Amino acid sequence: LPEQEAFDIEYWLLEEAKLQRMPKPKGLAGRVALVTGGAGGIGRAVAGRLMAEGACVVLADIDAEALTRTEAEFAKAYGRDQVRAVTLDVTREDAVIAGFAEAVTEFGGLDILVSNAGIASSEPVETTSVAMWDRNMDILAKGYFLVSREAFRLMRVQKLGGALVFVASKNGLAASPNASAYCTAKAAEIHLARCLALEGADAGIRVNVVNPDAVLRGSKIWTGEWREQRAAAYKMSGDELEDHYRKRSMLKRSVLPEDIAEATYFLASDLSAKSTGNILNVDAGNAQSFTR
Ligand code: NAD
Repeated sequence: LPEQEAFDIEYWLLEEAKLQRMPKPKGLAGRVALVTGGAGGIGRAVAGRLMAEGACVVLADIDAEALTRTEAEFAKAYGRDQVRAVTLDVTREDAVIAGFAEAVTEFGGLDILVSNAGIASSEPVETTSVAMWDRNMDILAKGYFLVSREAFRLMRVQKLGGALVFVASKNGLAASPNASAYCTAKAAEIHLARCLALEGADAGIRVNVVNPDAVLRGSKIWTGEWREQRAAAYKMSGDELEDHYRKRSMLKRSVLPEDIAEATYFLASDLSAKSTGNILNVDAGNAQSFTR
């Protein structure tokens, strides 16, 4: 796709030039954030973005090896004082409670939660097993509930408000072929965010959603089985599907982990102080906006 690549490069050079002209505020200095799935593609980009704005970040992930590697990379880039890692499984209540307690002990509080840890699965409904259904509901719907509950408990005691950002998916709004368990669990995350926005408002706790369309680079989900499973569901090859995603978007661009990180920073910071219960789709202008 040489033409597309040249187009992408030109776009990013333009973006880079714009960024260089902008003042560099440290919008999150003094804030503490916890990012679940912080050792994965999107979570890692989000954590880096928050650290660049001065936040202290706790990376929480089930993958201990990737977590150690990521923590070391960030410690080198931003300093040991700005990063910690906690190994936890978001589906286990005891582990989530202990992990949050550890995070708070390390940095003395919690201002931001980015709930992002996740999986993806693809299967026609006729062959979807109860185990697959439960796994999606456990990691996505229940996992997002458990970490949010812990954040709410801490933030209410602190009395300083807070910001929760859910990395959900466009698939939580729009049906995608052969992925009913995943789509339904993502829809549950989105509605959970709306409910929590209502509950947290009196305490100044904001809850918003970033909805990525397919993130084609840097994601372990995408480079795993998901890419080929999605391609099979669309009756295309993996390359054709990626091209299809770009072409169906208004901007004709791929969505990257850095794009999700930028939107998450906005919703985690005071830039979005008057926004709660909302969804920010990061999809290069896609699906629901026009017919295709
Ligand atoms: P990724 O696989 O690169 O990262 C996911 C991370 O979550 C991994 O580090 C993994 O170890 C961790 N994780 C998985 N199960 C966990 C558990 N039980 N407890 C703690 N950590 C766990 O994938 P990604 O693309 O960065 O995905 C991040 C989020 O973005 C997910 O919620 C995913 O559904 C969502 N999303 C991804 C895409 C995409 O195309 N990649 C599109 C839309 C939404």
